[in-house]
Amino acid sequence: MLQITHENFLDLKYFASGVFHPLQGFMNYEEYKKVVYEMQLLNCEIWTLPITLEVSDFKDINIGQKQDLYYQNKLVGNILIEDKFYVKDEELYEIFQTKDEKHPGIIKEKRRSSLRIGGKIELREEFYKGSLYKNILKDIFHPDIKTIVGFQTRNPIHRAHEHLQRIALEICDALFINPLTGWKKQGDFTEEAVMSAYKIMFNEFYPKERVYIQGLQTAMRYAGPKEAIFHALLRRNMGCTHFIIGRDHAGVGNYYGIYEAQNLARELSKYYNLGIDFLLLKEPYYCTKCQKIVSEKNCAHYNQHRIAISGTQIRKDLNEGKIPSKIMMRPEISAGILALGKENIFIN
Ligand SMILES: [Zn+2]
Repeated sequence: MLQITHENFLDLKYFASGVFHPLQGFMNYEEYKKVVYEMQLLNCEIWTLPITLEVSDFKDINIGQKQDLYYQNKLVGNILIEDKFYVKDEELYEIFQTKDEKHPGIIKEKRRSSLRIGGKIELREEFYKGSLYKNILKDIFHPDIKTIVGFQTRNPIHRAHEHLQRIALEICDALFINPLTGWKKQGDFTEEAVMSAYKIMFNEFYPKERVYIQGLQTAMRYAGPKEAIFHALLRRNMGCTHFIIGRDHAGVGNYYGIYEAQNLARELSKYYNLGIDFLLLKEPYYCTKCQKIVSEKNCAHYNQHRIAISGTQIRKDLNEGKIPSKIMMRPEISAGILALGKENIFIN
């Protein structure tokens, strides 16, 4: 009997519902290595982050056999075991492009068992029925809507996000805001804080027929550029035609260059058909001379009049129970978040 983790249970749902298309199960070692070192599946399609099933030991793991999978003691599906293998530190360093053991993605991966198995899975229907993501956007929006841009986030909306989203809505017909609601590191915003902020945005500011929000329950990896592409592929599979990559997408600390994710997207799109287009947008800031949110692409005062829209500053203010500057976050959104109470705003 194989008990699986919460994270692997979510993976099962995404295989079954097509969010991880074309994957049909957990990677074997050959595919895992190709993804880690070449960002490709065995069929040579681009895929940037490995998806593997962790096990605590290899007892009763027999290649070629089907094994039942249990989550919280419930039978959820099965795997046809193709391979068993160990993941190594140097592969982790390659995934995260750093050897720093303090990187939150590496810390998290090292907490997992290094024993993995690969193979095609089957999930019992009751666990993904009704939660199908594939083509959900076609069901949500009016048929006149042809282009849908995906926006990945793990934070409550601030002015820079709003600026990017409005630009995206000028280019595309509709916007799909898809906050990540799986594992996040300590000190990040809770799902409740993120959703309550967007609720205010939806009720008071955004056109309802063009903007849709739904959480995506999968772990943050903080793998920067590779995770940006991974995020885009998932949104492609959900029906998005475009995907926004802004500043330091899925980055953390100073591990990745602020436009490294955009560069990777540009580079890959040159040589491969990823099935999704990118909106690669410069970092918005508030210009005290232009007196609005701008970017270095449309304002000449980057060095003299720039006030950064700082997520760190917003977090600090909210953590101290203060309303952040209205230049950075709409006051009604700040108030809505603070009303949740500090213990509900941040992950402990
Ligand atoms: Zn300016």
